[in-house]
Amino acid sequence: MVSNSTIPMIKGTFPINKFQQIETPFYYYDMAVLRQTLDTIRQEAGKYDNFVVHYAVKANANPKILRVIREAGLGADCVSGGEVRASVEAGFPNNKIVYAGVGKTDKEINYSLDHDIFCFNVESIPELEVINELAEAKNKVAHVAFRINPDVGAHTHANITTGLAENKFGISMEDMETVIERANELKNVKFVGLHFHIGSQILEMNDFVALCNRVNELQERLMKRHIICEHINVGGGLGVDYHHPNHFPVPNLAEYFAVYHKHLRLYPGQTLHFELGRAVVAQCGSLISRVTYVKKGTNKQFAILDAGFPDLIRPALYQAYHRIENLTSDEAEETYDVVGPICESSDVFLKAVDLNKAHRGDLFALRSAGAYGEIMASGYNCRELPKGYTSEELV
Ligand SMILES: *Cc1c(COP(=O)(O)O)cnc(C)c1O
Repeated sequence: MVSNSTIPMIKGTFPINKFQQIETPFYYYDMAVLRQTLDTIRQEAGKYDNFVVHYAVKANANPKILRVIREAGLGADCVSGGEVRASVEAGFPNNKIVYAGVGKTDKEINYSLDHDIFCFNVESIPELEVINELAEAKNKVAHVAFRINPDVGAHTHANITTGLAENKFGISMEDMETVIERANELKNVKFVGLHFHIGSQILEMNDFVALCNRVNELQERLMKRHIICEHINVGGGLGVDYHHPNHFPVPNLAEYFAVYHKHLRLYPGQTLHFELGRAVVAQCGSLISRVTYVKKGTNKQFAILDAGFPDLIRPALYQAYHRIENLTSDEAEETYDVVGPICESSDVFLKAVDLNKAHRGDLFALRSAGAYGEIMASGYNCRELPKGYTSEELV
């Protein structure tokens, strides 16, 4: 990553006149950035003819965003029945929808069976048996992949690392052969793949190399028993540059796919599936909020926004950084704590940040908020949910 000091501060470009007519706070999606990202995915993954890219719907399920992603040809990776439904409604073909999650309910499984989704990513033997039973009742054969916990750490926030043995996710490596054998005994499930996902906001390519090495090892183990599956799914996790959304609007997808091409050994006929969430949508989105008050404290001053953690929870939940820009002031910079209106000390977006002098009514952009932003919004304090607008609607 490039250090802050070497990069000139520039602001993003926004249709500020249009913004003045919209009630704040709201999410704004720059569709040129989204389309550029999707083009890059198509180009870079397309260099390798057995790579298949899915979009992790949990990052952002705004129907306007889903439609553009579906049109770009990506599949949908879901972690709940609601996401399977959102994907079906957004027009993703059934054979491009996969469904993962440690706690799939009967209702969610039945809905997915009714829509003949491509694959269930199964996380335990009890779940496998329930899927078999429910599929049998419908006279269907469900395709299943096993999510294996590869015990590979990722250099990211503890709350978003998922591939360690201590996490609740997946089946342990020792049990891999047992679950595959169990699946082969059952008549209404068909074992088709192995699934992995080691965490999120990963910028260290060596973490992905470690996953590749582990997958190679496990595949060799299975080869000894003449087990070859149709596909390997390595999950998502590629991070974005939260500090420089204007300079690096598109993540380094060329390097990401090249790492997998170089390090992961596929057997003839196997496809390699990816499930990218954050990397697809983070940089196209901003939360736009208005300054309600500028308040002087004893030793500092606060810019109090009309957005709070119910609108964007990542700073409160993960101490996540979002770059903030004052879109409507060019005056000399002053230092602010940028906070929300909620009665909780964690309702702080950023402390001691230098911004163009703020006034009541100024519009602030909280950048890189397209992933895990709008979708995680809540109505806490009886607040209205923020709406989402695309640049194509606001021209
Ligand atoms: C969350 C998740 C993803 C997407 O993660 P990103 O970091 O947003 O790319 C992919 N696969 C699974 C199983 C997930 O839970």
